[in-house]
Amino acid sequence: MARRKRKEEGAARLEEYERKRDFEATPEPRRRRRRAKASAPRFVVQEHSARRLHWDLRLEHEGVAASWAIPNGIPTDPSENRKAVHTEDHPLEYLEFEGEIPAGQYGAGSMRIWDSGTYECLKWEEEKVVVSFAGERVRGRYALFRAGSEKDWLIHRMDPPAEQRDPFPEAVAPMLARLSELPAGDEGWAIEVKWDGVRAIAHCRPGRLELRTRNLNEVTRQYPEVRRLSRQLGARDAVLDGELVAFGPDGLPSFERLQQRIHQTSESVVRRRMKSHPVTYVVFDLLYLDGTSLIAEPYARRRELLDGLGLDGASWQTPGYSLGHARELLAASAEQGLEGVVLKRLDSAYAPGKRNGSWLKVKNVGRQEFVIGGWQPGEGRRRNRIGSILLGYFEDGELRYAGKVGTGFSEADLDELAARLAPLERAASPFAGRRGPRQARFAEPELVAEVELRELTKEGQIRHGSFKGLREDKPAKVVGLERPAQRRDR
Ligand code: MN
Repeated sequence: MARRKRKEEGAARLEEYERKRDFEATPEPRRRRRRAKASAPRFVVQEHSARRLHWDLRLEHEGVAASWAIPNGIPTDPSENRKAVHTEDHPLEYLEFEGEIPAGQYGAGSMRIWDSGTYECLKWEEEKVVVSFAGERVRGRYALFRAGSEKDWLIHRMDPPAEQRDPFPEAVAPMLARLSELPAGDEGWAIEVKWDGVRAIAHCRPGRLELRTRNLNEVTRQYPEVRRLSRQLGARDAVLDGELVAFGPDGLPSFERLQQRIHQTSESVVRRRMKSHPVTYVVFDLLYLDGTSLIAEPYARRRELLDGLGLDGASWQTPGYSLGHARELLAASAEQGLEGVVLKRLDSAYAPGKRNGSWLKVKNVGRQEFVIGGWQPGEGRRRNRIGSILLGYFEDGELRYAGKVGTGFSEADLDELAARLAPLERAASPFAGRRGPRQARFAEPELVAEVELRELTKEGQIRHGSFKGLREDKPAKVVGLERPAQRRDR
């Protein structure tokens, strides 16, 4: 009699579960006849990647699976109460369910068993449940208690943490790279592409992700496409270091494109720009994983653990690094129009906020020949000498002005330039369209200068140029613009 009554109660308790589902459409189980009672009640924690990632805790109790949806996973530390939304009872068959719930169905998404086992029931009251789990991952005493409306419960770990855990870092200032030339030898260094974007540290805990920039500002809401990364990490705790990059149609990082995202905080604008100017979070370091701080670990070990996470998605990726071949990689990066490379000592610890020389950035410097079309007298000590040379290149038979260069000369260079330019002096500007700067002295466009430059603007103007010498092996007439892929010095 008592048994029959319990059975009917069980059926009534599953009404909501059955009402929400179309069993022709979903692979989720229907209630069947009750199995023989196991010696200890069972529990399951299912990782449910639905509209939001969450973890469903189900406890076998009185013929059904009492259920809670936990947005941030089962807590590991007693200091933290986590939200647990009390949901409808599920049939006991659900304790073993894994699968895909089709789109359009209730709870659409994928359901995976994250942990299962038995538990001991220490207290079961209307508004408070105390259990002791014996699972693979979840072990120890937990309390679930009501903390608001019928659905609003909290879950609390009552035992001390199962294992010693390093505190989760709340804010980490990113380690910085020192601007440098290539080191003499590249042994012991990892070489990565230098990404031209915005540096960001991602703090990932189950079901949540926070992005912070170099000055520790939180920018999560500005880059919603990156948030889905937390689904790939599931129940893991991780702190990642990387760069937010907007790739242009040419596949190159474009800082100009990123500008469209950096200052946007309005949700509707962010949604639109997310489609028109998507960003990718390029991940290159791992600072914390599952209770262990990796800051003191060598770079090589951190990268190994990072690669083990296999982070690769629509809006995030983990590009590799090279051992050795620094010179070739720098050259290749220049050819592809990338900003440069970053070298990181394989044995170096992560030094938050520091520029200690364990990371070096080597930027591509362009070299280009220009035709000298004049000069400007110097000031101060160089008053009677050349201050800067006026440069141009030929396009469609005309000499186009490209700007002036006033650094990089040795005393001997200045003497030689003066001697070589004097006989070429002429009154009119040789430059088409523009006359050149004030107080310019002009020359027949015959001498060719080699110039090192950080940037050639879209308009073909030299930025941060430095004189490297005269080229004697080329007639001025053939000097046109070799446009290196665009780069910017920041
Ligand atoms: Mn669920």
